[in-house]
Amino acid sequence: MARYTGPVCKLCRAEGVKLFLKGERCTTSKCSITRREYRPGRNAQFRVKNSEYAVRLRAKQLARRFYGVGEKQFSTYYAKAAGHKGVTGEQLLRLLELRLDNVVVRLGLAGSRPQSRQMVKHGHFMVERNGVNRRVDIPSFVVRPGDVITIAEGSKEFVKRVVSAGVAARVPTWLTTDADTLTGKVLATPARTDIDSPVNEQYIVEYYSR
Ligand code: SF4
Repeated sequence: MARYTGPVCKLCRAEGVKLFLKGERCTTSKCSITRREYRPGRNAQFRVKNSEYAVRLRAKQLARRFYGVGEKQFSTYYAKAAGHKGVTGEQLLRLLELRLDNVVVRLGLAGSRPQSRQMVKHGHFMVERNGVNRRVDIPSFVVRPGDVITIAEGSKEFVKRVVSAGVAARVPTWLTTDADTLTGKVLATPARTDIDSPVNEQYIVEYYSR
């Protein structure tokens, strides 16, 4: 399915939460969701009572949009999570958090997930695993504990400019970063309590279990 290329602020307004798709703007008074607190579209200012199905569908759409994942890929993540031991919803969130584009944002090396996705695709990052350092240009690349994320040679000035443009990340406890060298390391797989995300994973499980 084609990737959504329309106005991203509409997605936040449709879900009723900030998805942080525009970097620095999301934390200023210019954020659309703070200026127009109603859903986009005609008649959107009327209150609509959502069915149980609609609530679960919206939870799934919100997660997809927050992490920038397509419909098919998202259902693949769900199938993988359901095949793992443990709580399916938490496994799903863990898989999404361990994507390289998400890790780059969490480390504060990009302002938003769309920007991070593009930077990864353009080959600005390297991942060192088991002593082998290689360029990774796949946003959905899954990092593991012990992986070290560095900036590719020739991209350092560009990434420094992005970082100095006001990317203020709260680096979660399962990652660590060195602000001088702009490197990051994955310390562990995140527990649910480590994941700061507006996603309601239980509704997503109910959506796929219907
Ligand atoms: Fe969403 Fe950011 Fe647009 Fe605000 S500025 S509506 S958080 S994408």
